[in-house]
Amino acid sequence: MAYVEGLRCRECGHEYEVAPIYTCEWCFGPLEVVYDYDAIRSSVSREKIAAGPASLWRYSDLLPVVSDSAVDLGTGYTPLVRADRLAEALGLGEVWVKNDTRNPTNSFKDRVVSVALSKALEFGFKTVACASTGNLANSVAAHAARAGLKSYVFVPADLEAGKIVTTSLYGGNVVAVNGNYDDVNRLCAELAGTYPWAFVNVNVRPFYAEGSKTLAFETAEQLGWTTPDHVVVPIASGSLLTKIDKGFAELYKVGLLDEEPQVRVSGAQALGCSPVAEAWLTQSDTIKPVKPSTIAKSLAIGNPADGYYALDVVRRTGGGMAAVTDDEIVEGMRLLGRTEGIFAETAGGVTIATLAKLAREGVVRPDERVVAYITGHGLKTLDAVQEVVGPTATISPTLDAFHEAFTIEEH
Ligand SMILES: *Cc1c(COP(=O)(O)O)cnc(C)c1O
Ligand SMILES: [Zn+2]
Repeated sequence: MAYVEGLRCRECGHEYEVAPIYTCEWCFGPLEVVYDYDAIRSSVSREKIAAGPASLWRYSDLLPVVSDSAVDLGTGYTPLVRADRLAEALGLGEVWVKNDTRNPTNSFKDRVVSVALSKALEFGFKTVACASTGNLANSVAAHAARAGLKSYVFVPADLEAGKIVTTSLYGGNVVAVNGNYDDVNRLCAELAGTYPWAFVNVNVRPFYAEGSKTLAFETAEQLGWTTPDHVVVPIASGSLLTKIDKGFAELYKVGLLDEEPQVRVSGAQALGCSPVAEAWLTQSDTIKPVKPSTIAKSLAIGNPADGYYALDVVRRTGGGMAAVTDDEIVEGMRLLGRTEGIFAETAGGVTIATLAKLAREGVVRPDERVVAYITGHGLKTLDAVQEVVGPTATISPTLDAFHEAFTIEEH
């Protein structure tokens, strides 16, 4: 059962029937899913959710999909781990890491794709497609294989091998485009007007975006149906950040939280592609498009579709933003690895480096309960660290050689 009433324009409020559409005919604003929250309130309960599957489908009452038609690779319900060693390194108190590297294709994109492809099946599409910075393509290809759908995924040609190879293996069409993500996205908007395909982040974007709410749902459930004081979220298009905020608000609306959540939301960007952080830092209301140049390729969107809304959430909730250098990103990846045993991709390095910066600036405080969202796995971006880490020593297979290389104190 899906409790969806329709779609509504975020700008002018004009309402539409449920359909694979994404912009308002009146003002070109983005469309968003509208729910019957009273009906959801009388259906959901903490017990019902606890008895559901160990995946994002345990929250199907709050998703715009009839769950019987779900395309399911077992996405979601990833670990939320208390990160005391990381907290100590950053001079913070209570820090948690939401480890979304543990999804079927090793990034949080499996959440949005599960919802988008389920909806595409409901709409009767036979072919799915996307414009991607890498992880989305990876996830769409895998879920399309699972659902028996044809797929065309479009990525910038200069992506990491770890993303192209893992995507191509699933047997769909992988189109490497000589251009950056914003070029790829423009091409896909044209293709969406030409072919009867479900472009997950174009014509089914309103449904796709809802999948990100499940990160907030899981966080609250895993914290015993309470919310963090502060969350740090990486920004590419800005959709994830806005939906984490929306997810916490919805839980209260449908009666799953006792107290109205007051979650400060902070945004993380790479300095080489930081249009939203730049607007924040210069206190501007306009987001100036940039040409990306950063190792955090999964976040390299120079003209972010939801950038303005992300900025708005950070301002409204009293969060902060920072942009971090490529060196800081690599150090963030290494810090998370050596303190918590979690190998994140460059986007995770952006999140940890931003958390560190905001902690130094006093924006994230030691008295706060903090959650950092780690959204992709490090094996996909080995290129970023393979020059800076390696064996501690390379030795001959003899005791002498080992003793020469290491002085061991304990016996
Ligand atoms: C896509 C992506 C994001 C951010 O997504 P948006 O919703 O576009 O802001 C964050 N982390 C990783 C690893 C991603 O692939
Ligand atoms: Zn409108």
